[in-house]
Amino acid sequence: MKRFAVFGNPIKHSYSPIIHSLFAEQFGFEICYEKCLINKHEFVAEVEKFFDDGGMGLNITVPFKQEAYRFLSNLSERSIEAGSVNTIKKDYNGNLCGDNTDGLGLKVDLVKNLKWNISNKRVLIIGAGGATRGILRSLFSLNPSQIVIANRTPGKVLSLLSHFKSLHNVSGCSLDNVNKEAPFDIIINATSASLNNEAVFLSDQIISEDEFFCYDLAYSDSLTPFLDWGLKRGAEISDGIGMLVEQAAESFSIWLDKAPQTESVIKYLKNNY
Ligand code: NDP
Repeated sequence: MKRFAVFGNPIKHSYSPIIHSLFAEQFGFEICYEKCLINKHEFVAEVEKFFDDGGMGLNITVPFKQEAYRFLSNLSERSIEAGSVNTIKKDYNGNLCGDNTDGLGLKVDLVKNLKWNISNKRVLIIGAGGATRGILRSLFSLNPSQIVIANRTPGKVLSLLSHFKSLHNVSGCSLDNVNKEAPFDIIINATSASLNNEAVFLSDQIISEDEFFCYDLAYSDSLTPFLDWGLKRGAEISDGIGMLVEQAAESFSIWLDKAPQTESVIKYLKNNY
């Protein structure tokens, strides 16, 4: 059976195995897709071992996306732009190739599934890790009037902004100073705080007086603290399930050259998890 896996730490929360099995079912075959908890110092060795043992494709999640980018020498344009890799495959010459499908996943979810209008809106992204790198260019392509990236550790925002200096109307600040940049119409939580059920402290002053939207890249069987905060303040909210399924569909087609349907898989996850 064809073998796939997602590498991360933590990894228990991942729905990727069920998503990819449902995709494979659409084409009438089975796959083996495992979630693997990887020791923080053994990432590269584990990737090499997985492919040496016959693995066909890997997804990479928190906190290894930037390490995967640094380790691989064959990279897609969008993973170079992001400086971050979430999908690895072995090509016909035996080279490991890195790609990043997160940005496409978020864009399809916002535009096609949720039908949120980003054009001319002020967008706040909280967090400056691998996921923010992956989604920034796709968000930018939806023509917001401004994107502000706020992070707990300000140095990380600076290095991210220097990587994306060709994007205008994108600026950064520390999480402590985010009030000065407000108000925002759309707030995207791209921190890993929700994975530990932690809240990121946000003041009500950052919310636009018009309708506003809160999107948490994380997903869980209950409302994340960030989405709970948004809902209590009247926001339209979404967790990251739609993005997860859309980015997975793109990974699946990179590995197997088949484009799965996503709507039924999103519905299944929302009803069963
Ligand atoms: P990284 O480990 O690369 O980055 C984590 C980020 O979260 C850093 O900016 C970090 O800040 C910040 N952070 C962590 N804890 C806190 C906290 N308590 N308060 C404030 N900031 C905090 O992770 P990724 O960028 O790869 O992933 C981020 C999230 O996005 C995860 O929840 C992941 O599951 C989700 N994700 C979902 C996807 C989907 O398809 N739905 C796809 C990709 C990611 P600092 O720099 O200060 O440490």
